[in-house]
Amino acid sequence: MKVARPRGVDDLLPDAAGAWQRLDMLARSVCHRFGFHEIRTPVFEHTDLFLRGVGEDTDIVAKEMYTFPDRAGRSLTLRPEGTAGVVRAYLEGGLQAAPQPIKLFYASAPMFRYDRPAVGRYRQFHQTGVEVFGAASPAADAEVITLAHALFAEAGLTQAEVRLNSVGCPTCRPRYRERLLAYYRPHIDNLCADCRVRYERNPLRLLDCKVPSCARLAAGAPTVSEYLCEGCAAHFATLRELLSTADVPFTADPGIVRGLDYYTRTVFEVVSGDAGALCGGGRYDGLVETLGGPSVPAVGFAIGIERLLDALARAGGRAEPGEGPCVFVVCAGEGLLADTLRLTSRLRAAGVSAEFDLLGRGVRAQMKHADRIRARFVMVLGEEEAERRVVAIRDMRTGVQEDVAADAVAEWVKERVSSGV
Ligand code: AMP
Repeated sequence: MKVARPRGVDDLLPDAAGAWQRLDMLARSVCHRFGFHEIRTPVFEHTDLFLRGVGEDTDIVAKEMYTFPDRAGRSLTLRPEGTAGVVRAYLEGGLQAAPQPIKLFYASAPMFRYDRPAVGRYRQFHQTGVEVFGAASPAADAEVITLAHALFAEAGLTQAEVRLNSVGCPTCRPRYRERLLAYYRPHIDNLCADCRVRYERNPLRLLDCKVPSCARLAAGAPTVSEYLCEGCAAHFATLRELLSTADVPFTADPGIVRGLDYYTRTVFEVVSGDAGALCGGGRYDGLVETLGGPSVPAVGFAIGIERLLDALARAGGRAEPGEGPCVFVVCAGEGLLADTLRLTSRLRAAGVSAEFDLLGRGVRAQMKHADRIRARFVMVLGEEEAERRVVAIRDMRTGVQEDVAADAVAEWVKERVSSGV
């Protein structure tokens, strides 16, 4: 019996791997340019970390976590998001004692949510994200939003748009919460079942509901910006100025509240046409303390890699085929397998990607295979070439063929590749 993959998860097959690798390399390069350092945290953590860090009233904790007892009966959870684990590692690794700010990124990290699978919604998906610890200034918010913008722009998603809001802080949020409850009170009976629970437990999330009747109500709700305390209003105003200075276009959107409990002040999303939110983030000044550390301000974001790749594929049309090897070495004579292997090894040692036939095929079949796997050069090693200590090299783009001294082939190939011939 064949065993199929579980619902909501996907394989990365070789044809799609190129796009992933390019995006991964781009993300790493942008993060390095902005002075961020890589962090990797475990795929599972103690369940308690997410109960406290993400919040028991969130959809993630209430209904989407992969939680299981291990063999010793401890409750563990496959991480549903990256921030809680990074905060834990920051504290456990003593990074709060190092010079601040600490600027971290994680790349293509798997996350797990038991949600109903749909287009762009998986049970295992991947996020690339950044976190800045120890900087309360709006300059840090601007730094991460500018980084996100640079990444989307360099990835080629020109229609990506930053939506920005402030959800206030523990000083101003209670006042807004009261106002919001007063607005919704006469409409409780018209709310969807989820929103009735949100009304009781987490009224800010009422603004996030996608059910059309609830969304209509949300559109007329008072906005948090009218209730920001002086500190939050000034923070938000400076952030907007900084983003304008950095040439990062954005739209202020009072409807952005984000699903997680830990956000304070800045929240933002990057959206692209119909693809919805590709990236979500914000400031979380209370989270480090909630997880048992000192009071450390922090701000970050996470990008959904599958959604970004889908959006790129839709924007750019045809996916590029994966690259073939630089060289395919054709073994064209009985007893020349050792020479073929030697030549291939020499090319590989010189940093040139090279392959040779593993199936013992004839010369024509080897040439056909080299063409099919898109080898850039084909090197033919026959009796006559071996005697003359040369290799016949065919450039598969131009069809031009020439003999090159066997000792010099690696240099010959590298010269051509580096000069773009
Ligand atoms: P969040 O951690 O919920 O703020 O999500 C950040 C980003 O991760 C979103 O903007 C999506 O691009 C992506 N994302 C969240 N949940 C899923 C999922 N179930 N499947 C695929 N991508 C997701």
